Amino acid sequence: MLPVIDAHIHVQPFHMLRPEARRTFFLNKPNAAELEALAGHPDRLLALMDRDGIERVGLINYVSPDVLGFTDEANDWMVRYASADPRRLIAFGSVNPRFTREVGPAVDRILNLGVRALKIHPPHQVFAANAYLDALPQLAQLYERAQAARVPVTVHTGTSVFPGARSRLGNPMDVDDVAVDFPELTILLAHGGRPIWMDEAFFVVRRHPNVHLELSGIPPAKLLEYFPRLEEIADKAVWGTDWPSPGVTSMRKNVEQFLALPLGDEAKRKILYDNAARIFR
Ligand SMILES: [Zn+2]
Repeated sequence: MLPVIDAHIHVQPFHMLRPEARRTFFLNKPNAAELEALAGHPDRLLALMDRDGIERVGLINYVSPDVLGFTDEANDWMVRYASADPRRLIAFGSVNPRFTREVGPAVDRILNLGVRALKIHPPHQVFAANAYLDALPQLAQLYERAQAARVPVTVHTGTSVFPGARSRLGNPMDVDDVAVDFPELTILLAHGGRPIWMDEAFFVVRRHPNVHLELSGIPPAKLLEYFPRLEEIADKAVWGTDWPSPGVTSMRKNVEQFLALPLGDEAKRKILYDNAARIFR
């Protein structure tokens, strides 16, 4: 069995979710109680990863007090959670420059804490990925720190159906600026701009050596419809599922569907493991 790194799953401090966000997150999830229990017990997630044949996961996490309900405390929670096995549980962290003026020291704090990757979620954090150019100059400090520390940054691209989400901010072209201004920064475009900006995402990935396509949230069966030239960027595509988001019932099932696609074995291995292993050292 090929080793797998799933760079994008959601086990978060669910207790922080605002009521409306909570309703959306747990909508049509018969296993809601199980998921909440998982958030209290990292050993249960590790057992599930063993069953599903997943070596490591990226634990997505971001500060969005007004839309989702996650405060800066979510960073501390996530590092504590991942401390059960920091090699297999990759703690993401975030700073929201709409609520934090001194972004640089705040990034230093969470990196010292043990955060291993940063997440930007423009539609849920309500700023553009390139907002350092105008409204939020302090956002530049986040990219500078990440670039200097060689910490990857995953940027949500594409729409969102959460109440209050600003989907307009999900256009991957905003990340083109970031890649130009921070050329040594490792960037992952989560969801490849799905469902409306795939061409933009593909362009930005091909144009910039350090920008990668992160495949979570795209149904594997549709992956080659969304990205017919995926094999061309097999060195820059990173596996992810977005589990347990709507339609993603298990991490393993998505891997099986991906393995069934007409892609070469080498491309599959790079996408499922090698690229992420290089990025999340
Ligand atoms: Zn996600």
